[in-house]
Amino acid sequence: MKIPFVDLGRQYEHLKKELDDAVATVVNDRAFIGSLKNPHVREFENSFASFIGVKQVIACGNGTDALEILIKSLGIGPGDEVIVPALSWIATSEAVSNMGATPVFADIEPGFFTIDPDRIEEKITSRTKAIIPVHLYGQPANMKKIMEIARKHQLKVIEDCAQAHGAEIDGQRVGTFGDAGAFSFYPGKNLGAYGDAGCMVTNDHNTAQTARMIAQHGQPGEKHRHFIEGRNSRMDGLQAAILNVKLPHLEDWTEARIRHAHTYFDLLKESPVRLPEIRAGHRHVFHLFVIRTDKRNALRSYLSEKGIATAIQYPSALPFLEAYARLGHTKADFPVIAQYQEQILSLPMFPELTEKEISYVTDSIGEFFRL
Ligand SMILES: *Cc1c(COP(=O)(O)O)cnc(C)c1O
Repeated sequence: MKIPFVDLGRQYEHLKKELDDAVATVVNDRAFIGSLKNPHVREFENSFASFIGVKQVIACGNGTDALEILIKSLGIGPGDEVIVPALSWIATSEAVSNMGATPVFADIEPGFFTIDPDRIEEKITSRTKAIIPVHLYGQPANMKKIMEIARKHQLKVIEDCAQAHGAEIDGQRVGTFGDAGAFSFYPGKNLGAYGDAGCMVTNDHNTAQTARMIAQHGQPGEKHRHFIEGRNSRMDGLQAAILNVKLPHLEDWTEARIRHAHTYFDLLKESPVRLPEIRAGHRHVFHLFVIRTDKRNALRSYLSEKGIATAIQYPSALPFLEAYARLGHTKADFPVIAQYQEQILSLPMFPELTEKEISYVTDSIGEFFRL
């Protein structure tokens, strides 16, 4: 049996007519650019705001832009330090550097893969201005403790929600705990466009206004009135129209991901692999299903021979990438992730995965450990 890591084709087959119609409408109306008046983009902003339970949604070009624009909107720049997790996609720390500030890495919380609040406090200096927790793999970060630290030290909090659309803590959706949240709609994300797209969410009116202005060349609303120098970061009409078709299905897809995770938990409970942990009261939306084993590389090759695609998110933690060699970090600085990066393996996970496919994966894992 051949099992892909992610199969975006199955979702397209399911929604083909509506998606094709949405694309045709945008082309017919020539509503290509996400200008301030684009109806598809405005509709998406409104529906995503209700989905998250937030006052303001500002659509933009991609998730990296969302992080950068929020960093700038919150007044963070040269001379400032921003604490980020040692494990994430590079966009999280890159956004900080691109805005002229300095990323400061903190190790992850054992078992959960998200930033460890106990490691945050020891990184705070007089220059620290913000924390960017990442709800990695779909698991909400420990926001209760992070917000306590932020309030105590008067730090801004930008949530990186790129992998966690619809994740919750005690019924409240991620993106609404800190000052603002950044989402990505990269095709493979839990809610994916057919190209690059992203958005920012916030309950703060001023942050929203500044962010919108930056994303639209410094124009707060009226054409040709530029209050500041901004940049070009628009969500285009085609992407918004596609997201408008998909958003009503997101809850069902998320429930399917959670169901698949529980099937994996069930079928792997006797297995020597370490399963992801979920904090009480947290809704983990399983963008990725990540297991750990000391035999990671051998297991990965075995599964590959069986036709099962897996991935490693990520093979190197951020502080150990060449891009951060200038910081001179060693494994001893981040003991948890230094060990985990050799053990983590992401199993196939997408809403359209079948029970039969999941049991083929777990049976194959069982065979490997009996070899
Ligand atoms: C995907 C991702 C981003 C960046 O989103 P893009 O839309 O690809 O720019 C940022 N942070 C994390 C954790 C991501 O997974």
